[in-house]
Amino acid sequence: MASGFAKSLTGPCPCGSDCKLDQCCGPLHAGRRRAVTAEQLMRSRYSAYALAQVEYLIVTHPDAAGTSAERRHELRVSCRQTRWHGLKVLATNDGGSDDLEGTVCFEAVFSAGGSRQVLRENSLFRRRDGQATGEWLYVRPLD
Ligand SMILES: [Zn+2]
Repeated sequence: MASGFAKSLTGPCPCGSDCKLDQCCGPLHAGRRRAVTAEQLMRSRYSAYALAQVEYLIVTHPDAAGTSAERRHELRVSCRQTRWHGLKVLATNDGGSDDLEGTVCFEAVFSAGGSRQVLRENSLFRRRDGQATGEWLYVRPLD
């Protein structure tokens, strides 16, 4: 684990909530808590990118192409080359505690290769196996 992660546990969560990391996305990354809403999962995935929590990114996106080993490698490279500066959730549709599916539209500002860029995505989330008891998972971008 990177030392920066341990130090930042009591700092503000990278997802932009007003909470500390250990009261926000940290327990989700550690598997101590599950996301209640699709937005929470989306925020925790953003923080996971910012903190290079590669395993969390893999388990919350089980349908991604490639083997776990390939994805682990790609995500590590991507996390090393990208600095995440902020997240703005623009809109959510369903994805609540009683829903099986939902979308979250967001903007994330990052820099890579010396240039600052904005990723805007409308993401689809679904509960595992479409079951009300399943945890929220990232499926794919819609546009
Ligand atoms: Zn957070």
